[in-house]
Amino acid sequence: MVATTEKDGATWYRCEECGMLFDVESDAEAHEENCDTDSPSYLQ
Ligand SMILES: [Zn+2]
Repeated sequence: MVATTEKDGATWYRCEECGMLFDVESDAEAHEENCDTDSPSYLQ
């Protein structure tokens, strides 16, 4: 899930899988669809 975080008066969107922060919600959602910390595709 994408979590929202208030920081310096701005809303950030955090990937709960890896903790990466995004300033655009759609970017965070797109990232999270491809975020797979259990089985990184680049290792396959
Ligand atoms: Zn992620």
